Amino acid sequence: MLQQTQVATVIPYYNKWLRRFPDFASVARASQNDVLHGWQGLGYYNRARNLHAASKIVQDQHMGIFPGDIAVIRKLPGIGRYTANAVATFAFHQPVPIVETNTARLLARLFDMRAPIDSAIGREKLWESAAQVVPSRNAARFNSALIDLGALVCLADRPKCNVCPVKKFCRAKNPEALPIKKSRPRTKRLIETHAFVTNNGRVLLEQSSARWHGMWILPPLKLDGLRPSSSRQRPAYKFVFPFTHHRVTLRIFHQRPPKIDNRSQHWFSIRRIESVPIPSPHRRAIVDLLSARPATRSHRRRSSER
Ligand code: SF4
Repeated sequence: MLQQTQVATVIPYYNKWLRRFPDFASVARASQNDVLHGWQGLGYYNRARNLHAASKIVQDQHMGIFPGDIAVIRKLPGIGRYTANAVATFAFHQPVPIVETNTARLLARLFDMRAPIDSAIGREKLWESAAQVVPSRNAARFNSALIDLGALVCLADRPKCNVCPVKKFCRAKNPEALPIKKSRPRTKRLIETHAFVTNNGRVLLEQSSARWHGMWILPPLKLDGLRPSSSRQRPAYKFVFPFTHHRVTLRIFHQRPPKIDNRSQHWFSIRRIESVPIPSPHRRAIVDLLSARPATRSHRRRSSER
């Protein structure tokens, strides 16, 4: 849940998740629909799908008890080197290194690293450096301290070198120029057009097979299917949101009930829409359009739905 998201934002989602899914057994038993619904608002829905798949393995192959062996942890869906090591050190007190955003910045400066930290060589150097400094005792506390040092002292913009407890070990001559990163791809603009169709207290949704795989979205408007009845028709709703390296403009048009595609489309009762897993931009559009706000709205949003 914490990937690309701040702790304060995650806490309410985390508590809600634990009330709904207190253990691996409850996640493993749940349908994918329920898991996606529980994850709603956090974005990066693949993490929810992987957690669901991993819970089934923990339940079926490890009698519901999470394994402590890093090699076994790494085999679970969605678990990479960082997550496996973080679980091993924080849950099982193993003396293994961890590298995440805060420790990466801190290590790059401590060791004055010149390789881009998001390159294969740079990443390997970071892991080697982290392994070099992790102690054999109290590794969990040490790793936790490294994260805090990166988050609170070795800040990205203005590192607080004058109060830094590891200043005498730090090799960075110009800390603000570190870490070095590869240049990022330019943001691409996308326009996505969808239909808002209601009938007898129901709204038409389509199960996404792409970005929000498995979740329910407003039906995409295709040239040969649903489309604005007139090319001059203005959208009933417009909303801009970032998605990875894209800036997506969501345009939604009112439509009359069409002949629906039974394989992927479904009518949902508006009264029960809260229980359907819907990605945030589409949920927001539905809520606004249903609440009889002015016919044409235009929103911009800073936070991202991934
Ligand atoms: S001395 Fe400055 S750059 Fe070096 S680790 Fe401390 S805060 Fe970061």
